[in-house]
Amino acid sequence: MGDLLGVTVSPVQPYAARKDYICPGCEMTIPPGTFHVVVVPDEEPDLRRHWHHGCWHKEMRRRFGSRTPRP
Ligand SMILES: [Zn+2]
Repeated sequence: MGDLLGVTVSPVQPYAARKDYICPGCEMTIPPGTFHVVVVPDEEPDLRRHWHHGCWHKEMRRRFGSRTPRP
């Protein structure tokens, strides 16, 4: 999933989500125990961010819109 977009996206299962994170998409908290995704830019691994799953999907559409295949 990552190579085309220049980012690597990894799912974080609820049992592995143990901290609060701020989602850069909506600037709301991702509470512990919430399924979400970690997005790591391939070029800048230090800039990894935690996103709500839905917010990342919206962001992908915003960034990559027509290039992202839709079902
Ligand atoms: Zn969000």
